[in-house]
Amino acid sequence: MAKGSIGVTTTNIFPVIKQFLYSDHEIFLRELISNAVDAIQKLKTLANNNAFNGKTDDLKVTVKVDKDAKTLTVSDNGIGMTADEIDKYINQIAFSGAEEFLNKYKDNASAIIGHFGLGFYSAFMVSDKVEIHTLSYKDGAKGVCWTCDGSPEYEMTDCDKKERGTDIILHITDDDKEYLEQSRISTLLHKYCRFMPVPIVFGKKQEWNKEHNKWEDTDNDNVINDVEPLWTKKPADLKDDDYLKFYHALYPGQEDPLFWIHLNVDYPFTLTGILYFPKIKTNLDIRKDRIQLYCNQVFVTDSVEGVVPEFMMLLQGVIDSPDIPLNVSRSYLQADRNVKKISTYITKKVAERLEEISSKDAENFEKKWRDIKIFIEYGMLSDEKFCDRAMKFALLENISGKYYKLDDYKKLIEANQTDKDGNLIYLYATDKEGQYSFIKAATDKGYDVLMMDGELDTPFMSMLEQKNEKSRFVRIDADVLDNLVKKEDAKQPELTDEQKNIASTLFKSQIPALDKCEFYVTYASLNPNDQPVIITQSEYMRRMKEMAKFQ
Ligand code: ADP
Ligand code: MG
Repeated sequence: MAKGSIGVTTTNIFPVIKQFLYSDHEIFLRELISNAVDAIQKLKTLANNNAFNGKTDDLKVTVKVDKDAKTLTVSDNGIGMTADEIDKYINQIAFSGAEEFLNKYKDNASAIIGHFGLGFYSAFMVSDKVEIHTLSYKDGAKGVCWTCDGSPEYEMTDCDKKERGTDIILHITDDDKEYLEQSRISTLLHKYCRFMPVPIVFGKKQEWNKEHNKWEDTDNDNVINDVEPLWTKKPADLKDDDYLKFYHALYPGQEDPLFWIHLNVDYPFTLTGILYFPKIKTNLDIRKDRIQLYCNQVFVTDSVEGVVPEFMMLLQGVIDSPDIPLNVSRSYLQADRNVKKISTYITKKVAERLEEISSKDAENFEKKWRDIKIFIEYGMLSDEKFCDRAMKFALLENISGKYYKLDDYKKLIEANQTDKDGNLIYLYATDKEGQYSFIKAATDKGYDVLMMDGELDTPFMSMLEQKNEKSRFVRIDADVLDNLVKKEDAKQPELTDEQKNIASTLFKSQIPALDKCEFYVTYASLNPNDQPVIITQSEYMRRMKEMAKFQ
């Protein structure tokens, strides 16, 4: 028997681990299961390199709860550890075994998670004693038992473990009794291990027994995970239906997504994933079903602030990258250089994909424009680079439901809709019925009118004006039609300036509400088929009020 002291400091570090390592105690399960998965992946790697010749088709992790003994056990039949290895990888706490292993098998060891740092010791967040029973795959290896009760002292003895692999046995503290509940563990496994690359078994599959009138265990293992989730497969092998099914498995009860993007990079960093554009409701606050972040198929978090740009928070799906550090603190994550690169990359990919759809499948893109517009406008308003790219595929919709790319629309109105100062005038309506008379007056004159009733249309138009110096967006009920350089053939009844003044005074005196705002009577007709009169308001004054809503 060996006794020793864990090689970090002389003081007891476990209380520190308990308090500060992870704010979320539940993460211990993820750590232990990822270690078990690593041990199995390592064995597979050895087999691929002919360094292990045993069976590899029965590799799995098993999780068991024993309520009476108050233990939770995570077992694997991976590489196991020798006493020396326990000494090196467990006792010398700061030494990461994964790192050494990676150096040895650089090429196909990419699936090994080396980011968890103090992973194993997170077990002490919920246990007052932890045991390791392990048998290495190495020829002639002896079983080893290691026990530690949460103080820096440990005991290590030989034991007669017969099967290759490792059992980690946690003696759960009274404070953490919840981790002895089947349902709690089941929920955690679903959250953290749902897509891990090795089968994870939790109990037996159950079947309804009619005679006994209850659920009963079958002989089949209950495997809780999908070892080959969709994002790890080749896009070329997948059909639309696969993407839709995966979406609904991730977000049950939601409508079909509008588009998706399968991400797949290996340089300058490794990243895979699938992002979905959900059907967004009108408010911007629907952020509960968010993008999930994985590291080699291990769930890390679904609060991706700082990892993806703000406007991408409207997307759903999965991002998996071994280059995202699974560090304990969020602020560290946000400051990480890789994370910044990843964020930029995702923005670029999303823009590229949207551009591709808009050119290859314009009809589909137009059909879905009303639904994705809020996302694209939000992106353009908040991300300069995305904005530059989106200039190529963002659409404008006119009141008859026709869609135009920004450049095409410019060409459409260039000849016709300018004011005396040479500004290009984009006319728009926000309410087809309420502004009917103004719209009609404009279309009668041969002008085109845009429909701008989206939540972000007002700041979006201001942004476009800033980008294009000589462009003005003017709402159709503003004092504008009069100021446009008129087309030759437009013969509309107009009032002289003097008549306009008389009419304005008259209207103001009759309708007190009008007195509050700057308004003008710009047009009147005695023809019974025409609008009798048109009253306009300054675009500037009105827009100032609108914009105030967004500040
Ligand atoms: P990391 O996983 O980042 O290396 P951990 O503290 O989680 O850090 O684990 C430390 C080391 O202990 C691992 O690198 C590995 O060598 C060893 N280890 C932990 N759990 C197991 C296991 N189930 N099977 C084999 N080795 C293990
Ligand atoms: Mg680990």
